[in-house]
Amino acid sequence: MAGRLQGKRAFVTAAGQGIGRATALAFAREGATVIATDLHAEKLDGLAGEGIGVMPLDVLDDAALTTAIQAAGPFDILFNCAGFVHQNTAETCTDEDWDFAFRLNVRATWKGIQAAIPGMLERGGGSIINMSSGAGSIKGAPNRFVYGTTKAAVIGITKSVAADYVAKGIRCNAICPGTVDTPSLGDRIAANATAAGGLDQARAAFVARQAMGRLGNAEEIAMLAVWLASDEAGFVTGQPIVIDGGWTL
Ligand code: NAD
Repeated sequence: MAGRLQGKRAFVTAAGQGIGRATALAFAREGATVIATDLHAEKLDGLAGEGIGVMPLDVLDDAALTTAIQAAGPFDILFNCAGFVHQNTAETCTDEDWDFAFRLNVRATWKGIQAAIPGMLERGGGSIINMSSGAGSIKGAPNRFVYGTTKAAVIGITKSVAADYVAKGIRCNAICPGTVDTPSLGDRIAANATAAGGLDQARAAFVARQAMGRLGNAEEIAMLAVWLASDEAGFVTGQPIVIDGGWTL
């Protein structure tokens, strides 16, 4: 049986681990031709064996991002997955945190879209999927000041792009996860361990936020990305789609 993304070409950022990697693999399983990119080339190891094209790419480098998408394109699917989670408040956020979060979580999302749209128009349409979060405009999360601010901006980008291209066959949606068990979550758990009284306690605090009593896994998010990328979601655009184990209930 043909996969749901048969004949489609997909570009994925931050595909070295976590949600991006799981999604690149899921896209390929569904029949897409996939280019998987990441800042750390070594993290892409193993993907080529799955028939995925791999490319080291720092999405903070506007020219490199634009060139990568233009040179390897045109694409039907763009998954802007790269992002970083600062843990801070309006008081503790530094100028560096603010600038970095906006460059990575917001500007790189825009630059990817800007580079991908001409190719999508050439192919008669496409699906842009942006990585937002439940934290931001859907829920105020403690100690996620600049993170939530940037992820709210990603929803703004999503709706704006959806409105501008809805009549031209390009859909644009955002995925808004709760807490997902990925390598960078391990870093956040470690960073909170002292205050929480240990690693187990810090992990338990993340789990306790989820009404279902468990963390999400990257494959669950990847399956939502597959659906949004597919023609099955052809009537869906401009939507922040929450997938969060009940965190924002
Ligand atoms: P992760 O944070 O574990 O991994 C991030 C990947 O991004 C790494 O492979 C890293 O090398 C790459 N990367 C970092 N800087 C980069 C850059 N400048 N250019 C290209 N690649 C770069 O992965 P994750 O936890 O799956 O997070 C992926 C996205 O999902 C992020 O945007 C994050 O904000 C979002 N998200 C995650 C969670 C969660 O709980 N894990 C929840 C909501 C949203």
